[in-house]
Parts: sequence; C-alpha cells; structure tokens
Amino acid sequence: HAKEEGKNNAQFYSEELKSGSLERLTLEQSLRRALERKEFLLYYQSKVDMATGRIIGMEALLRWQHPELDLLLPHQFIPLAEENGLIVPIGRWVIYTACQQNVAWQQAGLPALSMAVNVSARQFLDDSLLRDIKGALATTGMSPQLLEVEITEGAMMVDMPRAVSVLQQLRKIGVRIAIDDFGTGFSALSRLQAFPLDTIKIDGSFIHDLPGSSADRSLADAIIDLGRCLGLTVVAEGVESAEQVDYLRRHSCDQVQGYYMHEPQPACDAVHAIQKNLISEP
Ligand code: C2E
Ligand code: MG
Ligand code: MG
Ligand code: MG
Repeated sequence: HAKEEGKNNAQFYSEELKSGSLERLTLEQSLRRALERKEFLLYYQSKVDMATGRIIGMEALLRWQHPELDLLLPHQFIPLAEENGLIVPIGRWVIYTACQQNVAWQQAGLPALSMAVNVSARQFLDDSLLRDIKGALATTGMSPQLLEVEITEGAMMVDMPRAVSVLQQLRKIGVRIAIDDFGTGFSALSRLQAFPLDTIKIDGSFIHDLPGSSADRSLADAIIDLGRCLGLTVVAEGVESAEQVDYLRRHSCDQVQGYYMHEPQPACDAVHAIQKNLISEP
C-alpha cells in the first residue's frame, strides 16, 4: 500500500514538474538564497584589440553554482530574476565584484584593462543603479573610465527618455556605455543618436556565417560603417574562427570577442590568459 502511495506521489510530482510550476517555485526559492550563500560567480571573457592583438578589456559574465545542479548559465535564471526583481541585488553584486576584480588585477601588476558588466532592462530602470555603480567605484577605488556598462537596444527602448537620462548620468561620472547585441533590436537608427554611446557590439548572429555568407558580410560591413560614422568603437561578438578575425580586421572592426580568442573563464584562468597575451607576439 505504502509502495503504491509512493508511486502516486512520484507521479504527482512529476506531473507538477512537467507543468513547470514546482520547478519554478523551487528555483525561485534557491535563487532567493543564492546571494547570501555566495553561489554566484563571475566568468571573464577577453576583448582583443585588432590593431595590437592585445587583450584590452574583459567582460564579466554571471554564473550560478546551484548546490544541486550544474553550473547554471544566465539564460537559465536571469529571466526569472528579472521577473521577480532579484536581478537588482544580484546585479549590485555583479558590479561590485567585477570592479573589485579589475582593481585586484591592476594591483597584481597587470596593465589597466577595461571591465564590462551587463545590465538588463529591469536593473537599468531601477533607481538604485546609479547609486550601486557609484558605490562600487568608490568602495573599490576603480577608475570609472575603465568601467563599461553593456545594455541591449531593447532595454534602452523600454523608457527612452529615462534611458537617455540614466546614460547621461553614467557618462558624467566617466563610465562608458556599450550597446549590446546590436542589430537584433530593430530600433530606428535615428534614435541611436539620442543616446550617449561609446561602443557598438555587433551581435554574434551576424558574425556566425562570416565570411561565407554575402548577406552577413553586407550586414556586418553596414554595422561597422554605422559605428564609424557615429564615432563609436565597434566590437564583434561571437568570433569563432581565424577567417572571421581576418575578415573583421580587413573591414576595420576595432575589437573582437569570442571563443576563437578566449572562452569565458574564472578569474584565476583569465589572469593566465592576460599574462600569456602580454608576452606573446602580437
Ligand atoms: P552577452 O552580453 O551578449 O554575452 C555574450 C554571450 O555569448 C555569453 O553568453 C558568452 O559566453 C557567449 N559567447 C562568447 N563568445 C562566444 C562565441 O564565440 N560563440 C558563441 N556561440 N557564444 C559566445 P552567456 O555567458 O551565457 O551570457 C548570455 C547573456 O546573459 C549575455 O549576453 C548577457 O546578456 C546576459 N548576462 C550575462 N551576465 C550577466 C549579468 O551579470 N547581468 C545581467 N543582467 N545579464 C547578464
Ligand atoms: Mg554583453
Ligand atoms: Mg551580446
Ligand atoms: Mg546576448
């Protein structure tokens, strides 16, 4: 009898799990505790300067070491954190930790590198963002010019006047601004000029089929030209081959980022990549 009941319970739970609500509930509960349990960590991926072949910056990418699951990627928990607002305290931790790491690398004798952090829509529209960024810079002593905030077109368009004002205030303290996943947001180009931007990051989907696809060649070229016309630094994301690097170099892309150069990696491995890059032939 007990065995039967156990089986029914198991069936019941698996039905619940299938519907997603229980899974979501438990994920939400563990997400709420993840910060205090120190389960988040940052991976770092290089940005390489085309002119010198040197690493000139890093992008911080969030990971969650869930106690029972594998290492979780942003797409597995950031949408939930956006929905329930936990992205605000999590994002505060990300900004602070990335600044702290940047200062630690410089104190260890590495050259000054830029550090990029991703900021999603809810975080971007939250009143605490500016305070959090100023706080992290002040507490860690990081130079604001080295910090870059990456925001997607979509996040900027939710409330455009507010977005412009937040970006202007970030600019005022010296922080740089990048538009992430550029080309996927369908925003009117005329609006782009309203934002104080420093960098355009060409979405990896435009890079993937380079140099073979003539459509992607045209799109990549057009985005590079657009960035150039607006006086912005152009970074290509998702670069996976030597042919892509070669194409992008010949078409005056400023920086490249992708698995071909370096995969995102924990701080201790990223530091080796930086040291190796310093002594290698450019
Ligand atoms: P993103 O900012 O556009 O970051 C690029 C993503 O592409 C990263 O995925 C990176 O691991 C991956 N990538 C890098 N090089 C290559 C490549 O050569 N090929 C391919 N196929 N992929 C490559 P990841 O780490 O899973 O992050 C996904 C997205 O999650 C990020 O896209 C960003 O929008 C968001 N995200 C990451 N960290 C944070 C964070 O701390 N806060 C917020 N709000 N969002 C974050
Ligand atoms: Mg990014
Ligand atoms: Mg991107
Ligand atoms: Mg992306």
